[in-house]
Amino acid sequence: MRLILLLSAVLFFSVSCQAQPKNEFGLKVTSDIKQYKQEIKNNPILELVNLREYEGLFFDIKYATSENFTKEIIYPSAEAFARKQVATNLMRANKTFNERGLALKIFDAYRPYSATVKFYEIYRDTNYVASPYIGSRHNRGCAVDITLVDMETGEELPMPTAYDNFTEKAHPNFEDLPANLIANRDYLIETMQQFGFKVYPTEWWHFDFNGWEQFNLLDIKFEDLKEL
Ligand SMILES: [Zn+2]
Repeated sequence: MRLILLLSAVLFFSVSCQAQPKNEFGLKVTSDIKQYKQEIKNNPILELVNLREYEGLFFDIKYATSENFTKEIIYPSAEAFARKQVATNLMRANKTFNERGLALKIFDAYRPYSATVKFYEIYRDTNYVASPYIGSRHNRGCAVDITLVDMETGEELPMPTAYDNFTEKAHPNFEDLPANLIANRDYLIETMQQFGFKVYPTEWWHFDFNGWEQFNLLDIKFEDLKEL
């Protein structure tokens, strides 16, 4: 009898753990649109919002073009989604930049997990590309790749490197640069920090939203999000 009880307890435990199966890299990733809808119903802070519906941001979604380190078009359309609180704070930061005649330009925001797996297959240096065993904060809707532009002309401010430059020059503490580049970069970093974003140690353009740990990994397609 005890054995049966034990066996049924083990069986129950293994079944309940399987509620959301782990993927081949040992992670739980929400890839089903129905599951995502249930998640945001249970907890509305999990909702991804479309940054294109906010006014005053500029966009150059590099992974929707072949102008990126993979040289391939990764995204079927040039979309930019983020969790609602991330979007709210981003817009607050943008307002501050506007006071100086500047605005944020988005290179990338929410990135479906399958794109992270693809990046890793192409470029295995996890200093620059997230490991599929961990996932990216972009997969959580909690990271943005950005720069500053003139809010009238849309022209980019000079920065230490172009986007996705995988060298030391892209590190936010790299100092062997002309003073104006350092000033532009540090102004971006310091202002974003005031609004709850932290720069990544090897990429001046990448910012993680503080509290990203509360948000799960997602592999929901842009097309599915647009239909909601
Ligand atoms: Zn990034």
